Amino acid sequence: MNQIITIDGPAGSGKSTISRALAKKINFLYLDTGAMYRAVALDAKRRGISPDNGRRMGDLIKSMDLHFKTDEDPPKLFLGSEDISLAIRSPEMDMLASRVSAVKEVREGMSHLQRKMARGLKVVAEGRDMGTVVFPDAEHKFFLTALPRVRAERRYKERLGRGESVSKEIVESELKKRDKNDKTRSLAPLKPAEDAKIIDSTQLTPEQVVEEIMGHLKLTKS
Ligand code: C5P
Repeated sequence: MNQIITIDGPAGSGKSTISRALAKKINFLYLDTGAMYRAVALDAKRRGISPDNGRRMGDLIKSMDLHFKTDEDPPKLFLGSEDISLAIRSPEMDMLASRVSAVKEVREGMSHLQRKMARGLKVVAEGRDMGTVVFPDAEHKFFLTALPRVRAERRYKERLGRGESVSKEIVESELKKRDKNDKTRSLAPLKPAEDAKIIDSTQLTPEQVVEEIMGHLKLTKS
């Protein structure tokens, strides 16, 4: 039977770490939909397609052979036979993913693919519109938040860890810009579903957030 847990929230709210840990703990499939939008951005850039050209973006998505290799932790994302897991994590792809994700044809194509990937499975679906648009009937919905300063700090550390030399100020201003794009777009804007539990992770470790989510799952079961 299909069982979906949605985890939405802004960049740096801890979504990825928490979704991955939760999925592993309860033996669900982890669906990283941000990675999918990043893949679209990467492919569009390589092919020289402007995000503003909805028709060409729609055709691009239909032609893309996108799949996760889930036997690895973290799962790897493949475009055809190419492992693009690292290529999609650049600051350029942060911003371009946010741009392409506002395009109607891109959202329609991706939502369709995400539902197809989840069909008949038990899934932790992570993104921006999992609880509101893609899986509105999910049994459990969560929305993670954290203070912008803390989210920027987490992103900054992540980028330093990847060997980038970047200032905290730049990370913070890029994060703010992406938040604004994601919250104010007309299609599937970033916002909690009405029936989502909101968890503020500012003062919590990832383990504590997973525990809190597990608590809610148990509560609704009994
Ligand atoms: O989560 P991540 O930072 O990898 O997402 C990259 C971008 O993809 C986001 O800034 C957002 O614009 C877009 N996205 C989206 N809907 C989702 C997941 C991600 O619009 N479900």
